[in-house]
Amino acid sequence: MTLPTYAFFEGKIVPYGQAKVGVMNHTLNYGTGVFGGIRGYWNEEQEQLFVFRPLDHFKRLLNSAKIMCSQVEYDENELRDVALELLRREELREDCYLRPLIYKSDELIGVRLHDLSDDVAMFAVPFTRYVERDEGAHVTFSSWRRIDDNMIPARGKITGAYVNSALIKTDAVRAGFDEALVLTQEGHVSEGSAENIFLLRNNRLITPPVSDNILEGITRRTVMTLAEQELGLEVEERSVDRTEVFLADELFMTGTAAQITAIVRVDHRAIGDGVMGPATAELRRLYSDVVRGRIKQYLHWTTPVYVNEPTPVA
Ligand code: PMP
Repeated sequence: MTLPTYAFFEGKIVPYGQAKVGVMNHTLNYGTGVFGGIRGYWNEEQEQLFVFRPLDHFKRLLNSAKIMCSQVEYDENELRDVALELLRREELREDCYLRPLIYKSDELIGVRLHDLSDDVAMFAVPFTRYVERDEGAHVTFSSWRRIDDNMIPARGKITGAYVNSALIKTDAVRAGFDEALVLTQEGHVSEGSAENIFLLRNNRLITPPVSDNILEGITRRTVMTLAEQELGLEVEERSVDRTEVFLADELFMTGTAAQITAIVRVDHRAIGDGVMGPATAELRRLYSDVVRGRIKQYLHWTTPVYVNEPTPVA
């Protein structure tokens, strides 16, 4: 992956090579940071880069920070402004990924959350596809269990918690699958390693509730709105059993990186006809137009990065 040219570090935008922490850094040692993942989409016709739902992402980042007793001097509007400035400095004119990070900047020995300093870092890189076969993924059920709210809060995007996701993903890929779904301690379907999950069954869209140890995904919320408003589907948030997944008419995962990834096989069982279903295909089409700022009704979700020069008056 190409390295960024710049990073936001210790309050200013600096050359990427200068954005470094010491090996005693608290978050490097104990996983006590929180992070986000935001996409920018290049719109060729308008020659514009659109950032998707930045304020919702930064609000979630600050909520994750709250869970980790972290305090920073920026609110979500200021973080959004930093992100836009960074993207302009990087001069990105292609699809990209923005990573904000709030980390404990102290260099000391001591596992705790209190009496520590917090800092913000941010960088952006070009980014395209995350799940290799996103039009027809084959997933498995992970033998790992999803972290529980009373262990490491799953609704926080906490750096250390991603050991759980990494174990899930690596075992799935090494076993020949594209991704894995993971169960809660009680045995209900929670989500993927970095994606929320949706089932379509008898024309109802079903997704596990926020109380089943999911990350409260922004793509999940986006898809729920689009499914209700544009496809007229009823959306139900409720616990999902493992075998219900096998019987779904359609199945897909959502996430900033994964976007809308169709799942066509689960543990070698075909979902529906074993090819991407019509509702998934329609949602993917809609989503791709919405994130690129092509649908007026959803322009409030997209923030333009570049200030277009006004056409000169003759
Ligand atoms: N679950 C987990 C564990 C994730 O890491 C992500 C990616 N942030 C998601 C779900 C999807 O969330 P979002 O749509 O906000 O990217």
